[in-house]
Amino acid sequence: MSNETLQAVKGMNDILPDEAELWLWFEEEVRDWLHSYGYRNIRMPLVEPTALFRRAIGEVTDIVEKEMYSFEDALNGDHLTLRPEGTASCARAALQHNLLYNAPQRLYYSGPMFRHERPQKGRYRQFHQFGVEALGFAGPDIDAEQILMCARLWRRFGLRDVALQLNTLGDSASRHRHRAKLISYFEQHRDMLDADATRRLHSNPLRILDSKNPAMQELVAAAPRLADELEDDALRHFDEVQAMLKRHDVAFEINPHLVRGLDYYNRTVFEWVTTRLGAQGTICAGGRYDGLVEQVGGKPTPATGFAMGVERLLALLLEDGMALPRAEVDVYVVHQGELASRLASRVAEQLRDDRLRVLLHCGGGSFKSQMKKADASGAAVAVVIGDDEAQANEVSVKPMQGGEQVRVSVQNLTATVNQII
Ligand code: ATP
Ligand code: MG
Repeated sequence: MSNETLQAVKGMNDILPDEAELWLWFEEEVRDWLHSYGYRNIRMPLVEPTALFRRAIGEVTDIVEKEMYSFEDALNGDHLTLRPEGTASCARAALQHNLLYNAPQRLYYSGPMFRHERPQKGRYRQFHQFGVEALGFAGPDIDAEQILMCARLWRRFGLRDVALQLNTLGDSASRHRHRAKLISYFEQHRDMLDADATRRLHSNPLRILDSKNPAMQELVAAAPRLADELEDDALRHFDEVQAMLKRHDVAFEINPHLVRGLDYYNRTVFEWVTTRLGAQGTICAGGRYDGLVEQVGGKPTPATGFAMGVERLLALLLEDGMALPRAEVDVYVVHQGELASRLASRVAEQLRDDRLRVLLHCGGGSFKSQMKKADASGAAVAVVIGDDEAQANEVSVKPMQGGEQVRVSVQNLTATVNQII
């Protein structure tokens, strides 16, 4: 047997208690915000059939080509994948359980996603998202509402330097025309294409526009524009989204090169970007995906959604100087002697019955050393019990922020503690 210390998988992080408290606080805030817009929670498995992602996300995408943790179930040979994102699963679940037949659905989920990427600041192999999906809505009002929602959350968190980039991808007819023009344009400039672009030339030329290779930027900038091919319906939809954002004073920039890394998007796409996290500056991204539900086997269902990267948002909050919150305990119970110990555990349970948060000292030691632990715990009150107190069925109550220690009966303890905190 090897004694080598085992480490977490590269790119997959432990979230230790100090930081986890920040996560808990964040998740509570986000849930509260989601509920204020009527979104309801849905929870899908972490593992799905590989075919779901191949169909939903698209074969020629970074995710499906090289980022998925796919494996064969050793017991039955099924092809499975750790989810790289949640939209496909959410649409699959809604469809499988007939959520889409009656009313449209506003849904959200949160949790880990898995992508085999090169780990770096803001880019991990297990990372976390809050995903927000509105299924069954066709109009531009829901696109705008989702963007307004985001703006509200950034305000709530006091985030600075977060900018909205917006684009429309149009509908399939215009995309087909644009695609043909793109292929012939890039074919004329074959010698300037890098390896990725050459490979995508015929399978997914739109993704060439998404290239991060500096050497390709000039070529990309002069490429035929989808904007010149858009149908009236798609243009009107986009105009209305913009008008609603303007009415609510949400600033945006139109970025004609914004195409998103997944194939299922159409019409409105958006990204919220900050300049303060280095290269991994997109904290939230999404858009309309009217074709997805059909793609995974349902009836045509218009839909729109977005996902926020939790690690990146928390990094931004900390960058903004946010202090780590701390879960508080109300009471630390100090005790010495056998009779006192018995009373101490009874008293701790009684305080918890009254909904107080209580740390009962375990492991013995002098009063002095126990009081040090009480101090370090951040508790507002120490309850001190010696055999003397125990014999009288009483306890001493000491406010940790200073003030007189008082002796009270066990019966009056909760009231006394509540007066102090
Ligand atoms: P990027 O261009 O940064 O790779 P993406 O387009 O692949 O992002 P989406 O699939 O749209 O990202 O995911 C939505 C959000 O999830 C991103 O905007 C980002 O905040 C976060 N995210 C995506 N991939 C990672 C990752 N590997 N590590 C941490 N956060 C991530
Ligand atoms: Mg990516």
